[in-house]
Amino acid sequence: MSTLLGYHFKKPLVIAIDGPAGAGKSTTARALAAALSYLYLDTGALYRAMTWKIIQEKIDPDNLSEIASFCEDIDLSLTVTGKKTEVWVDGVNVTAFLRDPAVTKLSSRISALAPVRKKLLVIQQQVGEKGGIVAEGRDIGRVVFPDADLKFYFDADADVRGMRRCKDLKKQGIKTNISSTTQALKTRDFKDTSRKLSPLKKDDDAIVLDTTDLNPDEVLQAILKEVVRVGVSCPD
Ligand code: C5P
Repeated sequence: MSTLLGYHFKKPLVIAIDGPAGAGKSTTARALAAALSYLYLDTGALYRAMTWKIIQEKIDPDNLSEIASFCEDIDLSLTVTGKKTEVWVDGVNVTAFLRDPAVTKLSSRISALAPVRKKLLVIQQQVGEKGGIVAEGRDIGRVVFPDADLKFYFDADADVRGMRRCKDLKKQGIKTNISSTTQALKTRDFKDTSRKLSPLKKDDDAIVLDTTDLNPDEVLQAILKEVVRVGVSCPD
């Protein structure tokens, strides 16, 4: 039993947050992990790292045998803390390159490939095997951690998500505008929800949160309420 936020928790929880881009998953997952002293696992960073390397190596995503041997050979590792997920490829920290628009654009095509998903599934499950983790992505509740203690599905109006993402990109010094960012995000949503393998879909036991009209603190408070409800042991 551990004491966090002034409560006694039965055990370190596994918390899954799924949803489309710009719904507030990363901001909330990071803040929640910090509040609980848990690990924060940004699973999108893994798919982005694979995509980045595929671009670097000029591998054709349609060449499945090349993709399969690429997945076998790639040396991919993670540093996961309460604040960030950093990804290392062949001993080089590639985290700073992962938000590149070319990586973002190709990531949903690469993430639909079976060898890529198989490789990353094992890595994600290893990171979360002891619990005490907040993992966010597209298939966390349904595939990566189907027995998670708490599952959330975040959603928000696409235009609001586009606006948020545009702001983030501008902060990172990437030139963009609201309409092209929103359009790119909708294209990615479509690919992520319609692919055959592990499509983005709400799990039956996930709690849905529409973040359209909520600020990050309101989202965090709503989530924390559920964490306390599920994780805190009953008084003797
Ligand atoms: O979350 P983020 O935008 O960084 O994810 C990049 C892409 O990685 C997504 O568009 C999706 O195609 C893929 N992804 C996935 N499964 C996850 C996380 C991300 O397919 N669990």
